[in-house]
Amino acid sequence: MALPRPPREKKKLPKSRRSPRRPQGREEVPLVKTALASSFEEIWPQERDLMIRPDRYRYVRKLVKSKSCVFCLCAQGKASFETLTLVKTKQSMVVLNKYPYNNGHLLVLPRRHCGELLQLNSAEYSDLMELLRQSVKVIQKVYGCEGLNIGMNHGAVAGAGIPAHLHWHIIPRWAGDVNFFPLIAETKVVVESLESSYHRIKEAWQEVL
Ligand SMILES: [Zn+2]
Repeated sequence: MALPRPPREKKKLPKSRRSPRRPQGREEVPLVKTALASSFEEIWPQERDLMIRPDRYRYVRKLVKSKSCVFCLCAQGKASFETLTLVKTKQSMVVLNKYPYNNGHLLVLPRRHCGELLQLNSAEYSDLMELLRQSVKVIQKVYGCEGLNIGMNHGAVAGAGIPAHLHWHIIPRWAGDVNFFPLIAETKVVVESLESSYHRIKEAWQEVL
């Protein structure tokens, strides 16, 4: 007759391999049981505060690609809400970002399809800078923002969504408008509709300049 086995002693992991303790009082969010969630569980066994968005993966990995350059489509024809194009000059244009990080997020770009800053000629560059300056003036007037992020991701490795067509971002900022969402989920809460932003900015463009 076999003797009952003594209870196995639980091995204690060395301190360096132990997962950090969850802070007390923090509620545990149940994980959505998907294949993706399981892989997260394997990688970060103690992590539970995940928002699973497998649909975003296709965009993050650039699996969804537009057949033609969306900015070149904006460059054709008149400025309209359909293309979110606000203003056009001879060489440049201002387009409302379809996926804004904040209300009034603008893109200022050359009309010509060009992904290299150094390939712009002097006339294009001057025109673009003047339009950038005007855009700042209009955005400050419309949104009364306390600050702005103005910048460009030059090249795909630098984070440009459409690297083949240069574009400056102008993003209005207010104190306390940042939370963890844009950092971890590529998602930002924007309270104004694109339509409302478009018409407000368009109207103001005539008044301000
Ligand atoms: Zn283009």
